[in-house]
Amino acid sequence: MDKPKYKRILLKLSGEALSSDGEVIDPSILEQYAQEIRKVKDLGVEIAIVIGGGNIFRGAAAAKVGIDRVQGDYMGMLATVINGMAIQAALEKNGMFTRLLTAIKMDAVCEPFIRRRAMRHLEKGRIVIFGAGTGNPYFTTDSTAALRAVEIEAEVVLKGTRVDGVYTADPEKDPTATKYDTLSFAEAIAKGLKIMDTTAFTLCQENEVPIIVFDMNKPSNLLNLAQGESVGTLIS
Ligand code: UDP
Repeated sequence: MDKPKYKRILLKLSGEALSSDGEVIDPSILEQYAQEIRKVKDLGVEIAIVIGGGNIFRGAAAAKVGIDRVQGDYMGMLATVINGMAIQAALEKNGMFTRLLTAIKMDAVCEPFIRRRAMRHLEKGRIVIFGAGTGNPYFTTDSTAALRAVEIEAEVVLKGTRVDGVYTADPEKDPTATKYDTLSFAEAIAKGLKIMDTTAFTLCQENEVPIIVFDMNKPSNLLNLAQGESVGTLIS
């Protein structure tokens, strides 16, 4: 089997990607993701996952239902724990060992996030899922992904989306949009690209952790990336 390019990766999955046709969490998507992750695990890569909560609740939507922003953000963070538990179950069903570590303590369902503990789990070959974001309101799970990647010394953030990279405009709305193969962090920030928030870009830029935006729904894309093939858009 080919040697992987990376020893340790951080995979960011959005919460919304887990839902389809009115199902908040679509079991077939969970299963598909678990199988894709398994291929990379079998290469010997250490994998950490940050999952979003947008399929269940986003803090930004709180005002619409008469809930203040901070309360809404905490609801969003709890939503990521539900998704984290779902992906944990799918990974374990596919024979992988996992630990869910959260920034908000929830002793009955997961471990608290402790960096050293996360590193130890990864060294032992367990897939570590980071839940509850950073534990602070006004942040996103993209920023969480950047922060945790830096903390655990991951070599790359792989942001799995529904599109195959970063485009000049939204390719689902603008047929003239073209894809970038590579971008610098400065360009990504200057162009105001909505693919990730500025906090996430800045954290990765300062700590020299590249981000690759790729289509998580295309079979073996994640595996190809782990083996060093150029897939999606590389931001570095
Ligand atoms: N959130 C937060 N702090 C964090 C991470 C997340 O307050 O450190 C909240 C925020 O309200 C966000 C929600 O959790 O809208 C869900 O996360 P996100 O929107 O990043 O999920 P995704 O878009 O990836 O599904």
